[in-house]
Amino acid sequence: MNWHRAKPSRYSTRMTCAPDATILAALERRLGPKGFTRDAQEMAPWLTDWRGSVHGQAAALLSPASVEEVQAIVCLAADARVAIVPQGGNSSMVAGATPPVDGRALLLSLRRMNAIRSLSPEDNVAVAEAGVILSDLHDAAVGIGRRFPLSLGAKGTARIGGLISTNAGGTQVLRFGTMRSLVLGIEAVLPSGERFDGLSALRKDNRGYDLRQLLIGAEGTLGIVTAASLRLVPAVGARAVAWVGLRTPHDALTLLRRLEASTGEAIESFEAMPAEALEMVLRNIPATRAPLTGRHDWNILIEATAPVGAPDPVERLTALLGDAAGDGLIEDATVAANESQAEALWKLRETIAEAERVDGPAAKHDVSVPVSVMPDFLVEASRAVERQFAQSRVLAFGHLGDGNIHFNVQPPVGADGKAWLAREGAAVNAFVHDLVVARAGSLSAEHGIGQLRLAEFARTADPVRLGALRAIKQALDPLGIMNPGKLVPANVDSSLETADVTR
Ligand SMILES: Cc1cc2nc3c(=O)[nH]c(=O)nc-3n(C[C@H](O)[C@H](O)[C@H](O)COP(=O)(O)OP(=O)(O)OC[C@H]3O[C@@H](n4cnc5c(N)ncnc54)[C@H](O)[C@@H]3O)c2cc1C
Repeated sequence: MNWHRAKPSRYSTRMTCAPDATILAALERRLGPKGFTRDAQEMAPWLTDWRGSVHGQAAALLSPASVEEVQAIVCLAADARVAIVPQGGNSSMVAGATPPVDGRALLLSLRRMNAIRSLSPEDNVAVAEAGVILSDLHDAAVGIGRRFPLSLGAKGTARIGGLISTNAGGTQVLRFGTMRSLVLGIEAVLPSGERFDGLSALRKDNRGYDLRQLLIGAEGTLGIVTAASLRLVPAVGARAVAWVGLRTPHDALTLLRRLEASTGEAIESFEAMPAEALEMVLRNIPATRAPLTGRHDWNILIEATAPVGAPDPVERLTALLGDAAGDGLIEDATVAANESQAEALWKLRETIAEAERVDGPAAKHDVSVPVSVMPDFLVEASRAVERQFAQSRVLAFGHLGDGNIHFNVQPPVGADGKAWLAREGAAVNAFVHDLVVARAGSLSAEHGIGQLRLAEFARTADPVRLGALRAIKQALDPLGIMNPGKLVPANVDSSLETADVTR
């Protein structure tokens, strides 16, 4: 059978119902005052996405404190066909955790499920509940002489359940991979209300289809992650953080491959930003200053680490960058002399998104192409976009070593950003994504699809991929109650809709 020719699935937001007073009362009774609110003020911060551009409504905000409470919510919602929108830190870049505007969904926040259940230095495993904030897990791992090797700008906000559900990437993917490679097991409540007990410390487990892998990156559309067992790695003994100024992304990639060849796996981060991105951070983020004298078309932030007891990587990195300067590959570089300098360099990278928010709206894209193609893509796509959309300005930065760039297009200087975006945004998105697809790339490298990429995903995706996605969704969530309107492009014929929405 061809999946994409199969009968359409039933999961548009219009398939679900508003919770009636009986259900709301049952939820309030079960969750108590700490776990249930309909207060507009309390709910307000969680109804808008991180960028402040997408606003939703919800029938209630539910904050369960246990797996049993999550199960009770899902069972009640499934019986009544009420939609559930899971939410972690609400730092999604694609409005994945923002409920629909119709106000019929229940917003389910995992923030009260924030216990680290166990930490095992013997297994190198942490078991953390979905509501644990990433930086809290970092601290807990350090406490037992280990490290959780995934970090990103929203580490003080993003929670384990959200990071798993978006298969988050961040700044250490080069060495440790995305969330997918760090999750050993998952505990989740499925759309049926059943508890999937997949917490495991096993490194090897070949019992067929892997529900854990389906839930990673599912954006809350296949169930609610309540806890996960996560891989830890040895603590860092010492790190070297450097800032490099150079001419082109081609030189940057040459530098990366050179450093890797000389240091093995020591290079963990290799983040690129053009001069304009650095200038924007310096302009908009207090207590930041330029790390190098002079302007460099491209800037690279490099982090190399060494395990406890191994030689400090500062000396090696400094020598390698000296060689690169001698060869004319780089223009200038500085290596942080201490932790506070290292943190100051990282701040320049990690606050780019915040600095952009201050600057105003832009057409944003989170794209990947093969790493070797990225330097040419950056040059050619920037030129093509700026030619096609008069006076627009490309600001592309990010994880060059992973072939993943945040390719953002800003409005002309002095233009009304909102009006420009409303007029040109859709055309800019399509133009950029077509350039990416033409290079066998992805229009969502790490942020997911959410609401904001849904139409473009549906437009550009291979029908076979979409068909498989819909078949999986239909199999696990036949009622379509889990985060409808996100990730899975709807494909519902209207006769089915009117036949089903009878309550
Ligand atoms: C400043 C900044 C920098 C960022 N940098 C990066 C980066 O470098 N790399 C990167 O990958 N992302 C980045 N992001 C995006 C964002 O931080 C990640 O997508 C993160 O994984 C979201 O976590 P969260 O807890 O905030 O999830 P939310 O935003 O609350 O939710 C994200 C999605 O997961 C679902 N979800 C949340 N919790 C659960 C659960 N327990 N069970 C099932 N579904 C759930 C939601 O429904 C939604 O679809 C950045 C964001 C910001 C604001």
